[in-house]
Amino acid sequence: SSAAKKPPLTLLLASPRGFCAGVDRAIHIVERALEKFGAPVYVRHEIVHNRFVVEELARKGAVFVEELNEVPDGAAVVFSAHGVPKTVPLEAKRRALTSLDATCPLVTKVHREAEQHHDLGRQIIMIGHAGHPEVIGTIGQVPDGTVLLVGTPEEAASVTPRDPDKLAYITQTTLSVDDAAEVIKVLQSRFPKIVSPKREDICYATTNRQAAVRTIAPRCDALMVIGSPNSSNSSRLVEVATRAGCSRSVLVQRAAEVDWTELQGIERLGITAGASAPEILVEEVVSAVLERFDVTIEEVRVTTEMVTFKLPQSLTE
Ligand code: SF4
Repeated sequence: SSAAKKPPLTLLLASPRGFCAGVDRAIHIVERALEKFGAPVYVRHEIVHNRFVVEELARKGAVFVEELNEVPDGAAVVFSAHGVPKTVPLEAKRRALTSLDATCPLVTKVHREAEQHHDLGRQIIMIGHAGHPEVIGTIGQVPDGTVLLVGTPEEAASVTPRDPDKLAYITQTTLSVDDAAEVIKVLQSRFPKIVSPKREDICYATTNRQAAVRTIAPRCDALMVIGSPNSSNSSRLVEVATRAGCSRSVLVQRAAEVDWTELQGIERLGITAGASAPEILVEEVVSAVLERFDVTIEEVRVTTEMVTFKLPQSLTE
């Protein structure tokens, strides 16, 4: 062992962190599909937004594509956890593909809300990030033009619905709880009759991970969120941590990416992980920290999650 004394460091581990029930289910669906149908199994879009997860599944025989026209006739295809527009399962059926839907049940819940509002003649304002696959999938549950997308309080202040009395809002599941509340406040003051979701669209996993990071951030000199840049909920965790008082909060995919010079001289380091980031990547980063510091680990748990989702029946029978 090295004679050099390692500097002391308190490592604050946020809990809950990492995999949610929807991500866990989506990955299991691909694994079970590979067992049942054999490789290759096609997956439309990254099953969850994590490169490590995607590479592991690709190694087992999953082939990732962006659109169904890249899937050969007769093949099995899994739709990612983010959900898909209605046109996608229709096209899969027309082509007689074996399709498996890994859409998170909590995303599907928002899809059904959108449909119900449309059936009741309400125009829909969706609070979300333009271009994210979940947003594309949710907007694609109802005819073109039904959904107006807003991302910021400014956009909420200028959006012009057809009829303010026949209006509802829905949200992306992975928004910052605080940012969404600001947008909702603007909408409700402009459109007092706007119908809100019966139960919050932002999911339990997003809410809990944000609450956990918000709790540790004010105590941290620096904080790392393990996750991929295209993961919405991971990016939100960096924002929440920054706003909660840790200005040196960064997104990190793997231990190799950690900027150790940035961590010189710090006393307390926070770590959390986005809902699509596997715990093995947290362990990898923690091990790298242990090599460089004399670490005291403190796990800060704000709640315990008991949520699990069943696999589709076609994979369990
Ligand atoms: Fe489902 Fe929430 Fe996980 Fe997304 S983050 S997959 S909505 S549980």
